[in-house]
Amino acid sequence: MKIEAVDAFYLRMPDVKCIGDGSQDALLIRVSAGGFTGWGECEASPLPTIAALIAPISHSACQPVLNSVLGATIDGPASIRAVHRAVHTNCFDLLQADHALSGIDIALWDLLGKVEGAPVWSFFSSVNMPKTAYASQLFGATPEDTFAAAKEVAKLGYLAAKFGWGPIGTGSVEDDRHQVAAAREGLGLDRTLLVDTGCIFDHDLEMAAQRIGILEEFQVGWWEEPFATGALAEYSTLSERTPVSLAAGEGAHNADQAKHLIDYGGVTTIQIDTGRVGGITAARQVAEYARSKNVHYVNHTFTSNLALSASLQPYPEQIGLAEVPTQTSELARAIGGDTWSIDAEGAVAAPAEPGLGIIPSLEALQSYRQAIEIRWNGKPIWTS
Ligand SMILES: [Mg+2]
Repeated sequence: MKIEAVDAFYLRMPDVKCIGDGSQDALLIRVSAGGFTGWGECEASPLPTIAALIAPISHSACQPVLNSVLGATIDGPASIRAVHRAVHTNCFDLLQADHALSGIDIALWDLLGKVEGAPVWSFFSSVNMPKTAYASQLFGATPEDTFAAAKEVAKLGYLAAKFGWGPIGTGSVEDDRHQVAAAREGLGLDRTLLVDTGCIFDHDLEMAAQRIGILEEFQVGWWEEPFATGALAEYSTLSERTPVSLAAGEGAHNADQAKHLIDYGGVTTIQIDTGRVGGITAARQVAEYARSKNVHYVNHTFTSNLALSASLQPYPEQIGLAEVPTQTSELARAIGGDTWSIDAEGAVAAPAEPGLGIIPSLEALQSYRQAIEIRWNGKPIWTS
């Protein structure tokens, strides 16, 4: 069967705040082929991503993404990988292409799973191992807020929690110490605490290094994103100065960037968002590479359950941790339902249903839909 249509739906909360919460808007992708549909979500700014789908050809390596997708044959995993390769060949000078491809690739795997009546993970492995869920949250505005949030996730049965962004790294070392201490105190000593400093130190090795003592003192399981994704030298040097595992990878826009963090950044936890890295195809490449290098692969997800399912599919044979967003927007919950439930052991696994096992309802999303019309020389080239 051939890909007949690719539709993109820009969804947005009425009020988008300047906070580290990527679930306040969304770009959903629907692909249609042979009477089947598949859904994917781009972890990307929606408008530039729509532009990448349709922007008129600039030159041979800067073509609209849809040129490499519409009309392509889908008859198995190899055919999805062929679409992936075609987009990379025809769009490598179009920097938003991997974000757009991410949603399309996820939707193609969802569609293939529905055609075959099989969950996506079953194309990679015969087993689907549960992983310990970690509740993913932002640091509170004050240590007291962080303490209360940590208490709450412990009460909900999570064995692990991550706190990130918010005020961390924006004030003094002592301010950060109070925040991490509050998270540890709220969680208790028997749960895993993870800290995400959200790239706040950019390339500043010494600013980051001043926090090493805090992370060691409060037995933090990993230190996520001290630096910008490309700061490989700083990651590598910091990794030699602390036994705390460095985690990064959510900012990787293709499999190569993630592999570089492993090979040259000293990162021992690699976190991949299928909605950003180029979809499930690229994420699976990273998962296999991480395993060969003894690096802990973990999903990155801070949006809907559709995105969470997509990010759980590429590493079914592994145990370890899985990120479960617990503070997402009303929009994210409208896309894929309430917070993903954890079992009695505090674990999660990719769904057993065909495809991704999550089917968004456009009816339920109607009030979030944004009307888009893009014109070129007075002629509409995209409406939704
Ligand atoms: Mg993060």
